[in-house]
Amino acid sequence: MSNKNTGGKGSFINLLIPPRVREVKITEVLPCLAAEDRIRVVGNTGEKLSDLLPVIYLYLPQATYSRESDSVSFMFEEHLITVFGEGKITATNLKDKDEAIRTLNYVKDLLNRAAIYVNRHGVPSLELMSSKPKVNPIEINKSLPKKDCGECGVSTCYGFAVKLALGECKPSMCPYLDANSQKELQKKIHFIQI
Ligand code: SF4
Repeated sequence: MSNKNTGGKGSFINLLIPPRVREVKITEVLPCLAAEDRIRVVGNTGEKLSDLLPVIYLYLPQATYSRESDSVSFMFEEHLITVFGEGKITATNLKDKDEAIRTLNYVKDLLNRAAIYVNRHGVPSLELMSSKPKVNPIEINKSLPKKDCGECGVSTCYGFAVKLALGECKPSMCPYLDANSQKELQKKIHFIQI
């Protein structure tokens, strides 16, 4: 049986649950292989994360998951992030340590939201894992206002749709989408809601 979460109930209860990941300590700062003036970092949560990785895979449209290496990888802004079940996180293409901290805090928040999902629904089933659809920018574009005004930071609505499909933008960045339209778009972008 599938355990897909489509609702947003329980947010009050969620506030009462202590965060699973309290901090991500930076354990290594290394030169980035992709760009000379950039760094990559290795962080550690001190927590086993294996049960949270399938949730992140299902939530983020462009994430890849490997059962063999017990890891999930995805892009956040221009950074390639990999989270390992043992608790390690790597992040690439960072300007400096401040950007590393901001990026790792984003991952920490994501992991804690995934932990709430697991508390409420359990670890996603294999059936659910194998039914994740590809997010199609053409489909997403149908729900956008077609003004091509650039106010979202992308010059065209289709360009914005592509970024939404990659998980690089949020519907709230378009000022012409009301709350309902934003919610509908979130459902198109994220296979599960966390
Ligand atoms: S702000 Fe909205 S309407 Fe304007 S280009 Fe972006 S998505 Fe299109």
